[in-house]
Amino acid sequence: MKENKNCKIVQDLLPNYIDKLTNDETNSFIEEHLKECQGCQKILENMKRGLDLDSKKLDENELKYVKYNKKYNKKLKFLKYALGIIILTYLIIIVSRTIIMTSLSIKAQNSQANSNYYVKAYSYQGENLSIKESYNKNGDYLTTLTVYSPNKETIKLTYYKKDDEKITILENGNKKQLLNPEEILGGKITPISGVSSGGIFGNLQYALIVGINSDYCNGRKCYIIRNDNYYMYLDAKTGLAIREVTKATKNEVVQQDIITDYEYKFNIVKDTDIVKPSINN
Ligand SMILES: [Zn+2]
Repeated sequence: MKENKNCKIVQDLLPNYIDKLTNDETNSFIEEHLKECQGCQKILENMKRGLDLDSKKLDENELKYVKYNKKYNKKLKFLKYALGIIILTYLIIIVSRTIIMTSLSIKAQNSQANSNYYVKAYSYQGENLSIKESYNKNGDYLTTLTVYSPNKETIKLTYYKKDDEKITILENGNKKQLLNPEEILGGKITPISGVSSGGIFGNLQYALIVGINSDYCNGRKCYIIRNDNYYMYLDAKTGLAIREVTKATKNEVVQQDIITDYEYKFNIVKDTDIVKPSINN
């Protein structure tokens, strides 16, 4: 009976004993009992083994966790790396677009600064055709815009400027009419929309929204700048538009493609090309 009573006490104390939380007096009491009691010895051994097993299990779990973490970190590293490459590629594209567009706009401005030039533009939309022809020399000009439409009178606008004299005439079929010259623009080279304005910052903003492809147009190296359904073909040498296309879109204002082809000649305009138009029929 005495044995049994001590067994209960010792077994209660064993967990603390294993964890070395018991004091010396208790320890010697436990050890004394263990010497004599095989039952409690077994329980102690089992307890110790159980603890070992537990810690082994914990180690395995920890290892799994570490392995998983390693794998996860590797994946995360790869993702960060891939994302970095994507961002870098995007930045390179934007920067190179900005460089191309800045270079084109500088060339275009230089071309437009030329005081002696001839430009002819053909613009088609379905069966409609308009032809713009412009002679420019030292700020003087003679520009005609003729619009041909099926089953309609041909309309012709003439803009003339020499020194201080400005004349604008509208011809509708056989009718001729003088217009106020200030109402309508003179015969400038068709401005290159978007590219020639805004400087580098404007070009950067533009680079974010447009697509640029290098190509050949009418046998010349050019860049195609695409903004939504609007395509501009720019001569790589002059920065000037060779062709502009507005693609027709479903349920939109533009129901047929509008195509405009440009032709430029520099330093060929003579004074005799800028002839004062006759107001009388
Ligand atoms: Zn015992």
